[in-house]
Amino acid sequence: MSEAFSNDPETTAALQRRDAAHHIHPFTDTGALNAEGSRVIVGGDGCWITDSDGNRLLDGMSGLWCVQIGHGRREIADAVHRQMSDLSYYNTFFKTTHKPAIDLAEKLARIAPSHLNHVFFTGSGSESNDTVIRMVRTYWDLKGKPEKKTIISRWNAYHGSTIGGASLGGMRAMHGQGGLPIPGIAFVPQPYWFGEGGELDPDAFGVWAARELAHAIEAHGPEKIAAFIAEPIQGAGGVIIPPETYWPEIKQICDRYDILLVVDEVITGFGRLGKWFGSEVFGLKPDLMPIAKGLSSGYLPIGGVMVSDRVADTFIEEGGEFFHGFTYSGHPACCAAALENLRILEEEGVVERAADIAPYLAERWLALGDHPLVGEARIKGLMGALELVPAKPSRSIRFDNEGEVGTMCRDFSLRNGLVMRAVRDSMIIAPPLVITREEVDELATRARKTLDDTL
Ligand code: PLP
Repeated sequence: MSEAFSNDPETTAALQRRDAAHHIHPFTDTGALNAEGSRVIVGGDGCWITDSDGNRLLDGMSGLWCVQIGHGRREIADAVHRQMSDLSYYNTFFKTTHKPAIDLAEKLARIAPSHLNHVFFTGSGSESNDTVIRMVRTYWDLKGKPEKKTIISRWNAYHGSTIGGASLGGMRAMHGQGGLPIPGIAFVPQPYWFGEGGELDPDAFGVWAARELAHAIEAHGPEKIAAFIAEPIQGAGGVIIPPETYWPEIKQICDRYDILLVVDEVITGFGRLGKWFGSEVFGLKPDLMPIAKGLSSGYLPIGGVMVSDRVADTFIEEGGEFFHGFTYSGHPACCAAALENLRILEEEGVVERAADIAPYLAERWLALGDHPLVGEARIKGLMGALELVPAKPSRSIRFDNEGEVGTMCRDFSLRNGLVMRAVRDSMIIAPPLVITREEVDELATRARKTLDDTL
């Protein structure tokens, strides 16, 4: 922890004042910060972060679903320092390259499912999904089917905040700001059994939700549909784990109508579900696979789109120049951070450790389902949610309060030294993959106390 900030409420207040005066925050009511003040984070170590008042918090969200290896690994700082000393920046445009980008592309081709052998580098998950829109549509142009333009996504999906990413996302509140979505995006229901399953059992609902894709394709005209995009498990939407029947049915539908399958692995990639990619967990064969976050464990911003042989061959053999790219596509320092992160994930067996700890985390997390405030506890790998309800057992009676109870619960959670996120009235976690058994116990104890405080 930085000495300058330790246990000094005055310093915290001063920082908060300056922050509120000049900083417009993402996904924040910045006006409210004048009254409430931001939490100022000054340090991070393993699964823990420290704020400017000296409080240590268990980071149950891995920052923003990204710090797979935990906070504060010196090796990454050292690798970035070495790279910046040699070559701090150069681009990968116009037939130029450098070793970190070459090494990282090669490594990703080795780690990713075997049909994904190329990567287009970006600076974030949002840029990756913007890239997806252009690649999907260009692919069908090259295939002589320019009318295939529409991409189908799901309500309540999150695919980023750029115009393209937010258009692909199915968050209505986001669409309401800035005139989204762009043309040529359509939406189908999410496989959210707890919230939207009605009288159907989960398996029947999973099939129903998947078949909504087929209905949408028929309604728009199959000749117009270019791709379906989805997260294996919706993260920001509230850790929506699809029923087991969902993905097999979706796969068949994509094959039947010859549309590209885009699997957004920005959260589920790099071990979050106990395998390298969520696609392996659900048996998917993506044509395009956006990645970011865990690629560098969030230490520096980098993302990419993993491109299948089917799409890459078309681009390389028939595409000519792809008029697309970012100044920081394949930034050498970011590639160095990602390479070192992947080395740690591999050499320390972090993905296997995530798979090992997952059943214990599930046991402790699912046990919270007996709490009077919890309508459903669910978890897969290291992603979990608690649905808060006013009465048990209840899927039909929900709070009608715009997420007030979730916000209250989130605030209690922070006071109890645990970072959980509130998505309306569900509390979600996605801890670092290096979480230990003792830390899982801490997480479960603090989460239960938080539920008691909220009741
Ligand atoms: N896709 C998914 C599934 C995400 O969860 C996110 C971010 O949370 C994004 C894309 C956007 O990534 P970024 O915030 O790096 O732009």
